[in-house]
Amino acid sequence: MESRRVYLDHAATTPLCEAALSAMTDCYREGWGNASSLYQTGRRAKAFLEKARREIAQCMGVLPEEVYFTSGGSESDNWAVKGIMTRFQPGQTHLITSSIEHPALLNACVFLEKQGYEITWVSPDARGRIDPEDVRKAIRADTKLISVMAANNEVGTVEPVREIAAMAHEQGVPVHTDAVQMIGLFPRLAEDSGADMLSLSAHKFGGPKGIGLLYIRKGTKIEPLIHGGEQERGFRASTENVPSTVGMAAAFIEAARDADSHIVRLTKLRSLLLDVIRREIPDVIVNGDPEHHLPGHLHLTIPGVRDEALIPLLDLNGVEASAGSACTAGSFVESHVLRAMGVPGDLLRSSLRLTLSPAQTEEEILYAAQVIARTVQKLRTR
Ligand SMILES: *Cc1c(COP(=O)(O)O)cnc(C)c1O
Repeated sequence: MESRRVYLDHAATTPLCEAALSAMTDCYREGWGNASSLYQTGRRAKAFLEKARREIAQCMGVLPEEVYFTSGGSESDNWAVKGIMTRFQPGQTHLITSSIEHPALLNACVFLEKQGYEITWVSPDARGRIDPEDVRKAIRADTKLISVMAANNEVGTVEPVREIAAMAHEQGVPVHTDAVQMIGLFPRLAEDSGADMLSLSAHKFGGPKGIGLLYIRKGTKIEPLIHGGEQERGFRASTENVPSTVGMAAAFIEAARDADSHIVRLTKLRSLLLDVIRREIPDVIVNGDPEHHLPGHLHLTIPGVRDEALIPLLDLNGVEASAGSACTAGSFVESHVLRAMGVPGDLLRSSLRLTLSPAQTEEEILYAAQVIARTVQKLRTR
């Protein structure tokens, strides 16, 4: 059994899909030029780039000129909040976000807070859901931005971004959402939610790492984060990463085309996995919102089992998973998300996050469930 490996950490990253790999290979050969150069080699690269932009925009149901390529989700998050807030002076300038954001967004806001900008951190309920009413109550005359993630990367809770955006727009406040975990399954989220800005990252849906985008609705006023040349209509300097952009487009087209069947498939695999785990580990706690959650995302608390013991032992037995929260240099950090949800201190370090791929088989999932159950039993009888 030890020779088998089952990867259950698709919220951390996904393998590069074949369509992306082949599109990128082609582009590295044919489209390697500098897309800003005016001779033929440059124009060819530019054609690859703009085709990718059109394809992605079409998947998202937005305009190509609303798509700004970045180096990934972290840059997009940083750009959105810093690019809006730094248009104004610190002091009487206010931003509302949630206390369960990804570190990319959270730490960008902490940085702004240190500069004197005022931040309201809205807490979720015990299921990790933000109440739009709490966001509404936090709005002030000097609120310049609301940023709430579309779906949480740790517990998988889907947030009411559409309700938040509708309410914010009544007050004239723009809304950003980190949709990194959600966009591969809900490609038209920018349009559906009405958000003014949206971050996504290619490597969470079968694309390459180091590439993403910030969707910026036409008319939204924002400063660049990376100053320099005139790339991305003067809003994001650096020679365009054309092959990665082309890979992102290929992966996005596939993800968008199959999104509905992927949701059905993931729902089935998740419930299969959960059934076995519940049977074998009766005291397991399922975190997140039972109604509003990502279909292939399962976050568990296993009382009495330390994640720093469980995760390496699972790895040894062929199952790759994480505790869900950021870990730096192999050390496990207490989750700010679980803490915000009010999870008691003795349960904070007993997390297991299992995130699935629609390409996985029932047999693979059942095998992993058995490995998890046996590993937990082993740790408990130690
Ligand atoms: C992975 C992730 C990011 C960071 O994206 P990168 O492209 O790795 O920088 C941001 N937000 C969420 C919710 C994520 O899951």
